[in-house]
Amino acid sequence: MAKGNRSGTTAPERPGELLPARVISVSRRNVKLLLENRVVEGVSSRALKDVTVGDMVAASPGKDKFFIEEILPRKNCLARSYREQQKSLASNLDHVFIVTAVESLFQPLFIDRVIGVCRSEDIPVTLVVNKADLPAETTVETIEIYKELKIPIHIMSVKKSLRWNEFLQLLANPQLNVVALAGVSGVGKSTILNKLVPEASRRTGEVSRKTGLGIQTTTLAVGYEYKPEARVTPLLVIDLPGVQSFGVAHLSKDGVIHGFSEIEAIGRKCKFGNCSHMAEEECEVKVALEDGRIAFFRYESYCRMIEEIKEARKY
Ligand code: GDP
Ligand code: ZN
Repeated sequence: MAKGNRSGTTAPERPGELLPARVISVSRRNVKLLLENRVVEGVSSRALKDVTVGDMVAASPGKDKFFIEEILPRKNCLARSYREQQKSLASNLDHVFIVTAVESLFQPLFIDRVIGVCRSEDIPVTLVVNKADLPAETTVETIEIYKELKIPIHIMSVKKSLRWNEFLQLLANPQLNVVALAGVSGVGKSTILNKLVPEASRRTGEVSRKTGLGIQTTTLAVGYEYKPEARVTPLLVIDLPGVQSFGVAHLSKDGVIHGFSEIEAIGRKCKFGNCSHMAEEECEVKVALEDGRIAFFRYESYCRMIEEIKEARKY
């Protein structure tokens, strides 16, 4: 997201002075920081190898780069986890937009995972259903279930600019400073980013004719600076990598349950102590599943996540 030195008005920093800055991108070799209104290069010591997009840091000016002295406390952090390993992916998020699209790209297993992980970190989410210009018979019913769960939903077509302005209005909310886009590949995330930030030049991929799915290209979270017209300060929009980054192994059983508000509510009435709502036939959640109070696909997402944390404990 290099936009170069845009200020030119700030006084030169004194060596040793600690300045607050926002981390906007991290690669193996360098860190880009937003310091006041400038994008500068940063370096961090090995001890700070966990520097993450979205972090606020204290940086001191060096000869040609800023040295990251400290990561300031995070209000939340999304981590990728796989078995016992965990790595921070993006932090200090004010909102996550789960980008999905109609028909086969609408994947509840992914959506529920992101909702769950965000809930455990107290990050509000909105479900963005893209490609609304295409027929969407099978998706309509599923969307209704998320509406009932009080998940905010925005249906649009980025390509046809259908309800695009309304999407921009969501981003213009002055309460937001850092947001992230999460989505499986093929849903139109790059198209959205390129439209927001033309310099982003995200590679847009064709959807595979065979599977109807896109081909995964990114593995790192990358931040882009987007400046809504109505705002004074820019918004950091973080492009999160795909499915594999939403491992849930670091969550507890209750943490997983907390991600499913309907299972959590009904589960409170379950007569079995410490029930994971999977084994007992007379479990209240299973009864609710039978009589349609819990959607089958939501329960499937839930079981997959519980199995994943159980599997992780074996190692
Ligand atoms: P990403 O993998 O999520 O980054 O998806 P891309 O942005 O690469 O988009 C995948 C494909 O979907 C591309 O061929 C886009 O042109 C197409 N696409 C994006 N938005 C829309 C839309 O609103 N409607 C339709 N019909 N196609 C879209
Ligand atoms: Zn139960």
